Order: sequence, then C-alpha cells, then structure tokens
Amino acid sequence: MKAAILVEQNAPLVVAEVEIPELAVGQVLGTVECSGICGKQLDEISGKRGSDPFLPHLLGHEGAGIVMDAGPGVRKVKNGDHVVLHWMKGSGIDSATPSFMWNDTVVNAGCITTFCEYTVVSENRVTPIPDDIKFDVACLLGCAVTTGLGVVFNNAALKPGQSTAVFGIGGVGLNVVQGAALVNAYPLVAIDLHEHKLNRAIAFGATHTVNASHADPGAFLMELSKGQGFDVVVDTTGNRDISQLAYNTTSATGKTILAGVLHHQMPITIDAHPLHFGHQITGSHGGDTKPDIDIPRYIQLYKLGRLKLDEQITHRYSLDEINKAVDTVRKGEAGRCIISTS
Ligand SMILES: [Zn+2]
Repeated sequence: MKAAILVEQNAPLVVAEVEIPELAVGQVLGTVECSGICGKQLDEISGKRGSDPFLPHLLGHEGAGIVMDAGPGVRKVKNGDHVVLHWMKGSGIDSATPSFMWNDTVVNAGCITTFCEYTVVSENRVTPIPDDIKFDVACLLGCAVTTGLGVVFNNAALKPGQSTAVFGIGGVGLNVVQGAALVNAYPLVAIDLHEHKLNRAIAFGATHTVNASHADPGAFLMELSKGQGFDVVVDTTGNRDISQLAYNTTSATGKTILAGVLHHQMPITIDAHPLHFGHQITGSHGGDTKPDIDIPRYIQLYKLGRLKLDEQITHRYSLDEINKAVDTVRKGEAGRCIISTS
C-alpha cells in the first residue's frame, strides 16, 4: 500500500509502497479514506521539537476509514465498520505499535498513522461512527474538533456569558471559538495573523477579532475588559510570548489554557501571585477528550446542524500531493486541509 514516509527532517515526505504487517493483539486494519494535517505533523517534519529517533516513520493522527480486519482480542469494531481514527486513547486494547517494510527498510509507526491508504491502529484509537457520516468531516473528529471543543468543555468548563479570547485560529482555535459560541461566551475574541482565519472565526461565532499583524491584542483585550482581563484565555499557538500574553490578559479569577504545546525546555515567565487568589493556568492534553463518549455527542450535534464541520474544509489533496498539502498548511493558507486516498 501507498504511504507518505518521513525519511529525514526538513525534507519532502517520500510517497512509496510499504508492506502491511500481520495484525498483532489489539490491532485493527482499516482503510484511510480521509486524513487531516495538524501542527504536530508539521513539527515532526521540520524537527521543531528536536531530533527524531524513530526515522523513518509514518505520520498523521486524525483520520476516518473502514475496518477491514481485526487482530486477536479486538471487540470494539468489526469488518465494514466506519470509524474515526484518533490519537487520544479511548476504550479497548492499547496495542503494540506496528512496523512496516519499505523494500528492506523497517518503517516505524505510532499507535495511529493516517498519511497512508491503509493503516494498522491500536483498538483504543478507533471509534465506530454511523455509515452516513462523510469521511472528510469524520476525520476532523480525530483531533482538531475534539481538541478544540474539549478545551472549552473539559479544560475551561466555560459558562454562558463568560468572556473568552482565543489566540491562534488554526484547526484547534477555530473549534475553541465554535465551542465557546455554543454556550454563548461573550465577548468572544479571535486573534490571528491571517485575515481569512479571522473571517472564518466570525462565521463560527466570534464577536470580535484582532489581527495581530497590525494591532496589539493585549491592549485590545484589556481595553475591552475594562482592565479586568478575560474569564478564559486560550493559547493554541505554543509560542512562549503568546502563552505569557494569554496569562497576562486573563482575569484575576480566570483560566488560562495552553492548548498549543510549547517546545521542551522552553520556560515561560509568569507572575505567580494571582495563582493564590483564583487565577488558574493549565495545559490541555487533546482537550482531555474521551473519544467513545465525545465523538458520538459531536456527531449528533453535527446531524442537528449545530456543529459546523463541512465549513472547516478549505483544501483537498490526494495522498500523492501530500507535500503540496503540507506546504499549504505551513503557509497558513488553509482552514482544514483534507488528504483523500480515493
Ligand atoms: Zn492534531
């Protein structure tokens, strides 16, 4: 089967034929009909998070496909089931990671990979979905949507009418806006460097936007909140200065949520005093999503027309065009960019 292989950092992915391994305990073989691209994969390719001991390896952590076979012990899905492929752990076996053969070279893979025609994933990384949900929207439930909504509902436990600011309107940030709008956060401020992302944020419920390429978001937030700061401020960028700004624009009893992951060994400096009086700061782990519970809930909302998924997709590429797709995402040109294998 065809797969995109990260052979070396800062180089194009190599699309090549690899051999599918036999299924071990707790592993599921499935097609990957559609996959999304996340910042995590851009970081893996660019080496932003350091050198990579697993090269060469496969990539991708949000997808959707059809189950073709199940290894020993698998109970959660059966052949023909449509599934979301997600990186957060759900119920089921946490299997060993598979290895694929590329000619004579061993290619590593994690518990989930999605930049490929077929995938071998751990049982706890699949969640069955109804057959009438399109794969392109289903794959967004593998990371971006569930993380963004999870930040709002699990990490922030946002209440109606609370003021909310979101730094970075990528896949996760847009869904933080969408989740906050679902509970009528007000004001709901979206901050980004790209005008098209801010326009999308307005379509998803933001009440105010700041283009940080020519305006000072910190000054804007403090003025809008009359110097009090916001109830909830989310940083999805993983940028140290922005994480600090997010903390500094949170109210004395508010919550700062770091959804973007800072580099290892990248300290941030904050005034800890407010932490003794109600200010909270926390890092989000995939929105602390529980896939088995959350994905069906979100699908129900989508079917009711209450959750925008189709509207997030701006670009589509084939697996052969993966490097073009990665470039598009890296340049900040895309909303959600979908890789389709068929
Ligand atoms: Zn992701």
